Amino acid sequence: MEIRTRFAPSPTGYLHIGGLRTALYAYLFAKKYNGKFILRIEDTDQERFVEGATEVIYSTLHEAGLNWDEGPDIGGDYGPYVQTDRRDIYKKYAEELVARGGAYYCFCTKDELDVRREAVTAAGETFKYDKHCLHLSKDEIKSRLAQGCPYVIRQNIPAGTTTFEDLIFGSITVDNDTLDDNVLMKADGLPTYNFANVVDDHLMQISHVMRGTEYLSSSPKYNLLYEGFGWEVPLYIHMPPVMKNAQKKLSKRDGDASYDDFAQKGYLKDAIVNYIALLGWNPGTMQEKFTLEELKEAFSVEGLSKSPAIFDAAKMTWLNAEYVRALSPEDFRKYALPYYEKAGLLGYRYDILDRILQPRVEIF
Ligand code: GLU
Ligand code: ZN
Repeated sequence: MEIRTRFAPSPTGYLHIGGLRTALYAYLFAKKYNGKFILRIEDTDQERFVEGATEVIYSTLHEAGLNWDEGPDIGGDYGPYVQTDRRDIYKKYAEELVARGGAYYCFCTKDELDVRREAVTAAGETFKYDKHCLHLSKDEIKSRLAQGCPYVIRQNIPAGTTTFEDLIFGSITVDNDTLDDNVLMKADGLPTYNFANVVDDHLMQISHVMRGTEYLSSSPKYNLLYEGFGWEVPLYIHMPPVMKNAQKKLSKRDGDASYDDFAQKGYLKDAIVNYIALLGWNPGTMQEKFTLEELKEAFSVEGLSKSPAIFDAAKMTWLNAEYVRALSPEDFRKYALPYYEKAGLLGYRYDILDRILQPRVEIF
């Protein structure tokens, strides 16, 4: 079996350290086994669309050396797969799933849903979609579609339980009762994240789905989709979050949570990538300094941790200093020069400055 992994970010304008770590692990895992790494932009949520966000993802991955292996041709280079360019595909599969009984058209208006939701919450229960439209007759559905009534397509969650395997967390079983008949295709004709993600993982023949643990609880719904289509379920590898401290996730709001934040501060890209690799993965040896090539060799799923990783800025700075000291004199000068100029040291003996500073500088 060919190992095929993907990084599937939603374009938010920002590549979080945790996101880059997911990309890195997916890349390393594929490369270790001579497999393929794919980039897929999950942009079907138009409300969250951020101008220029996709470019941030491309440029960061390229800079970090995580080049993807496939994608639509964009003038001699591989573009990533972009979900909004693939909308017809999801529509076709949604209709197929309806025909197979795994999904159904829903014509409920927002007002109708609000009334029913209120009644249920007033009784102290949580509202789940009540399968009202599952019981519409074929003729009724046909005539509403012919009239052009707005509709969504919902997943038809069957009774029973769902079990799936995660290579880190083991076998997980949930009662389908806890799952909602979520929308797969929205009224605007675009798929939801949940649906497009599954269709694409299947079509792109992803063997191992690697992503954050925040998706662990949605995985049963995805599994039911695979089953509804009669598709093989991929293997899952869910990774714990990157934390600021024991209580808090590393978040954009606190600043210093993206690749760019650190690159702009003068951390070397190899050091950032090296440090991120160690955030939640243990090589099983004392080695801490790894090139990307060495990481491809050393990486293994067995070394991934079940518990959240705490981002340690001091450790990254220490590692960065190791990289700075190991730079060739030419490279050191290249990085240092803009700072010499900024500091008004134009015309000084740079060779002397280099010799004094290289052993002492931690970050450019
Ligand atoms: N689009 C999802 C995100 O931005 C990806 C989840 C996945 O990898 O399946 O987090
Ligand atoms: Zn309905």
